[in-house]
Amino acid sequence: MTAEVTEQPDVRPAAVEVHDVHKWYGTQRVLGGVELTVRPGEVTVVIGPSGSGKSTLLRVINHLEKPEIGHVSLNGEPIGVRRHGGRLKELSERAILAQRSQIGFVFQNFNLFPHLTVLDNVAAAPVATGRLSKPEARELARTLLGRVGLADRTAAFPRQLSGGQQQRVAIARALALRPGVILFDEPTSALDPELVGEVLAVIEDLATSGTTLLIVTHEIGFAREVADRVVFMDAGRIVEQGPPAQVLDHPAHERTRDFLSKVL
Ligand code: ADP
Ligand code: MG
Repeated sequence: MTAEVTEQPDVRPAAVEVHDVHKWYGTQRVLGGVELTVRPGEVTVVIGPSGSGKSTLLRVINHLEKPEIGHVSLNGEPIGVRRHGGRLKELSERAILAQRSQIGFVFQNFNLFPHLTVLDNVAAAPVATGRLSKPEARELARTLLGRVGLADRTAAFPRQLSGGQQQRVAIARALALRPGVILFDEPTSALDPELVGEVLAVIEDLATSGTTLLIVTHEIGFAREVADRVVFMDAGRIVEQGPPAQVLDHPAHERTRDFLSKVL
């Protein structure tokens, strides 16, 4: 008998599944049939020129925007709708908020609560959603702030921190709801160059510890280091996707080559 090594298929549902998503703003088509699957534990980096629809895609996934056509599923559950006797029914606002709490979102401009301390910025959501008591949430917040290297700044207010520190608080805040996936929209674009590295280091730590991440960034070197898959978008479509060595070093499409020649 010969020993056979078979790889177990991953039967878990996709963390994020974007199916044939089209989105218009007025007469402008911003997404034109996007298909994207992010598997649990996978790190996907989305690159592409300004205006290509990257932020809109993240906003559709997080249900901040509704696509005119197509749908998004999280862990196999359609977002914004539920199955009801074979038909799809719109979810209530409350149910949508519950779904959104399964997704972490880190914005370019941090979006911290200015009137709350660093500790309470991170502890707020688990308390507001009723998942944890205030003492439990603060305990968790301390742990997460330690993980992003800010154990000594828990009592500070956002305005007292550098941009890099504020963005690390925002990452800890995203982790506090134990989301199935974290979306990053150009998390280092608003930072002074010397502060970019500390934020990328935290994201890389998440990537190597198995957190499912979908990251929009222009940091191509970072994409090469951490991505399982790089997705190139242009004019509302995914032009190509694949392992970083393929998309970044041997792009199949002229538009990808053209974009990379400008950013590298
Ligand atoms: P990217 O993040 O790749 O730069 P966006 O998703 O922000 O691209 O934008 C894609 C296109 O949609 C752009 O042409 C932008 O001007 C347009 N757009 C984005 N948000 C809105 C909005 N709320 N209303 C109208 N047009 C928008
Ligand atoms: Mg954008």
